[in-house]
Amino acid sequence: MALPRFFDRVFAAAGRSLSIERTDLERILEGRTIALFCGEECNEEGNARWTAELLINMLARLYPQISISATTSSVEEHLATIAKDINPLLDISQVQAGIQIPVVIGTRSDFSEPAIFPWAGGWLVRLSNGPLASPGLQNPYAAGAAAAFAAAEVFRRSFYEFLPKKAAEPSKDFQLSLLDFGESCGESLSLESGSVGEVAFFGLGAIGNPAIWALARHRALSGKLWLIDNENLEISNLQRYALAKDKDVEMAKTELAGRELFRSHLEYKLFKGTLEDFGDSLNGEFHIPTVCVAVDNVEGRRISQALLPRLVLNGWTGDGRLGVSWHEFNRDSACLACLYPPEPGKSQTELVADALGLEPNRAAELWVRAQSPSDEEFQAIAGHLGVKMEEIEEWKNQPITEIYRGLICGSTRLDLKGIKKRAIVPLSHQSVLAGILLASELIKRTDPKLAKLSQEDGFIIWENVLSPPSRFWTRVRKPVPGCICGDKIYQEVYAKKWLAS
Ligand SMILES: [Zn+2]
Repeated sequence: MALPRFFDRVFAAAGRSLSIERTDLERILEGRTIALFCGEECNEEGNARWTAELLINMLARLYPQISISATTSSVEEHLATIAKDINPLLDISQVQAGIQIPVVIGTRSDFSEPAIFPWAGGWLVRLSNGPLASPGLQNPYAAGAAAAFAAAEVFRRSFYEFLPKKAAEPSKDFQLSLLDFGESCGESLSLESGSVGEVAFFGLGAIGNPAIWALARHRALSGKLWLIDNENLEISNLQRYALAKDKDVEMAKTELAGRELFRSHLEYKLFKGTLEDFGDSLNGEFHIPTVCVAVDNVEGRRISQALLPRLVLNGWTGDGRLGVSWHEFNRDSACLACLYPPEPGKSQTELVADALGLEPNRAAELWVRAQSPSDEEFQAIAGHLGVKMEEIEEWKNQPITEIYRGLICGSTRLDLKGIKKRAIVPLSHQSVLAGILLASELIKRTDPKLAKLSQEDGFIIWENVLSPPSRFWTRVRKPVPGCICGDKIYQEVYAKKWLAS
């Protein structure tokens, strides 16, 4: 068995996205070999090599069997090392077992069968069923997006029998401009040197990782990044963190991001702490002009907007969707807080109480103190979830926060009858594409020439990553009445900070 040691998390993502049983998921994965064919363009740094590297990075987080064919053995070894560092149990072989899903990166004259052909050139990304020309102008954002689209297509072809009829058809050839989300803009536009200025990066998780991956490969880019996260890497994170290797478990997420940026021209500072800690550390007014938000909670997003940076960029995933948005406070469009209004419904502790069958007050008490429930309460939780005590024994005496994350949000292999709808963990290519789009939006919005060529709409979305990519990516979002962006005082502070000259 070459399934990764974080397979519980894989099941929480892939199994639940497809509504299939764990045993079915294992059977299908073990019956597939993803076959990578790399052209000679992969022998040196550039779009093809970047696409190959990020694609095998994502594939190694899900599929137990991958075969690699390149024009040099050093490229084959290089890609195999990337995969094995993520899942040391992975079977990298030339054995043609089960169903083959071929992906061709770069040009291969010896390969004539239908396959998945990702391509990047300038700001344009293509995905085709037949051969394409050599990749175009170097652009790590397009190369990274091409890898994510290829991984999405591999996923759909691997699990077509479990998809709704329309989604199960292979993607038709498509192309997408990351500049304006049309079909042609920016193919002949090379990435110039420039600075992103000073940027605070909140959240270095599943979306932050690929954003950092892309920025690190934009060699001519300068600027100063604050990398802010308070957590360490857990084994379950390996399911979709593009920068994480097996040996990195327990490393600070800030260190992981810093390691990737080490060879870039970007200056960076690590801050291991929460958003609030970071705000406090600045002694007074928040002076950083740009904030990238990639946290996994609504509160962090609301705080980011309330700090009133000049520009906020937001990457997100959820319910089979992904997207990115950009916000300036003085435009007639939604601010980030408009997109995440305070929940009129339930608080976090009320959700916990509901999910575990506890009294709301008691759940709140345990939650804020991070305490574990009593033996009787634990028994009641088992009853509420419809499982035997032995089955959830490993969670006994754990803090309520861990029990909730593990049993309800996370990675348990149990079939919990008491829970109607459990959170679906995003797929790795879903998070990767959200992060790549976040980084590319940062470049576009901090370069006036690119900003002019870019889409005006603030909201970008792929509605269903189990279906072929849509032709319509952009949305208009208007300000929400009652939001802070309609407040005179907030407007004045913003104008004084950023518009006075
Ligand atoms: Zn607003």
